[in-house]
Amino acid sequence: MPWFPQPKNLDTFEKELPEFVEKLRDKVGEEFIVRLAPEILEGRNIDSLSRENIKFRKRVRKLFDDIYSEEFLYKIEKRKPTNKTINCGYGAGIQIGSQGECLACDTVPTEIGSVGNIKNHSLKELRDKLLEKFKNTNVDKMEECKDCDLRYFCGGGCKGMNLQRNGSILSPVCNEDSKKEILSSLVKMNKWIYQRK
Ligand code: SF4
Repeated sequence: MPWFPQPKNLDTFEKELPEFVEKLRDKVGEEFIVRLAPEILEGRNIDSLSRENIKFRKRVRKLFDDIYSEEFLYKIEKRKPTNKTINCGYGAGIQIGSQGECLACDTVPTEIGSVGNIKNHSLKELRDKLLEKFKNTNVDKMEECKDCDLRYFCGGGCKGMNLQRNGSILSPVCNEDSKKEILSSLVKMNKWIYQRK
């Protein structure tokens, strides 16, 4: 279950989410996971690199870490040697707008992400077009990523963020620090996979 906290309601998330997740676990089990989006997309006076935004991201990540133990986190991240991440969720699911337009992701504008309107197409047609988008935007299709050693762990990042920051869904938001972050999570995962009892 993905959730998108905002600066104005993050206090409430911090206060109430841990207990809510606890109750959810009791009721539906460990496999039901609450995901928190740490990014606020740019626009309308939002600058993702502003100090407030960076602080916001840290608070969201801390909240997630507080709720889920490291072990659980790596289990769900699935960065195991046998798993291959080739894309983010772009085209892997379906987002249906209030007027029926279907998008590969709701973080990109309709002219880029739309695969048609549900009023005019069958779900199968829409699904096939979404899969096409998923395949055409995978990390091997990204010029700057296709030879990167980390590509099947990273998947080329969030397509919406790529578009917002770099003007193209195929142009990754990436630097040495973000690569180090992936490498460090791989080291931690290694410990979880091979050293757990
Ligand atoms: S780490 Fe950077 S260059 Fe490598 S696949 Fe991810 S976004 Fe692309």
